[in-house]
Amino acid sequence: MIFQLSEYYLSLSGEAPAPGCPVAIFRFSGCNLQCRDCDTPEREDVNFRLSAEELGRIIDRELLNYPGLSVLLTGGEPLLPQRKKALKELMAVRPDTTFYVETNGSQLIPSGPDNAVYVIDYKAPSQEEVLFQWENLALMRSQDCLKMPLCQEDLDWALIAIRKLKEARPDVKIFLSPIWGKLEPKDLASFILKNKLPVSLSLQIHKVIWGPRIRGV
Ligand code: SF4
Repeated sequence: MIFQLSEYYLSLSGEAPAPGCPVAIFRFSGCNLQCRDCDTPEREDVNFRLSAEELGRIIDRELLNYPGLSVLLTGGEPLLPQRKKALKELMAVRPDTTFYVETNGSQLIPSGPDNAVYVIDYKAPSQEEVLFQWENLALMRSQDCLKMPLCQEDLDWALIAIRKLKEARPDVKIFLSPIWGKLEPKDLASFILKNKLPVSLSLQIHKVIWGPRIRGV
């Protein structure tokens, strides 16, 4: 298995469920969606081709240099079928490290390992034809969560979507995330409170800290 990545670097996790947590970020190349407001123009770039052993060695080096560090696997789409099994194995042999895996919702999450936290997007129709895998709701464990990136025009849709998701899986954690420049955080905060929604707000704090356009921080 050869993993294709566009970049990797040390930073703070920008979003839920662990905003501000120090992480080694690995961005895998390739995505099966074409979201209207995608903020990852480098998603198809291939700057590194690494065997599972090479990727594992890089991760281990980062973990050795920074005790307690977590790992964030993102994309593109990290859980594309060709690499899902190998990624699961890579996480499973590092049981003391938390791996956050950001996935776009169109792929089934693997069962385990216990140290993986799957952060699954539930995308609004404004972004992409809805391709959410409903089976994921049954597969999610207590540490996994859903994230809904929203712009202003999605809010009516979001009310119905949240109700549907909660009916299917009342215990699931849902984070609402305003798309940068398309929905003001304070408007989303008011929307949550006004409608008494059982969800949390997630901001892209890396953009607040370093600005919306800077890459690799
Ligand atoms: S799933 Fe993510 S990386 Fe892929 S197009 Fe949508 S926003 Fe961009």
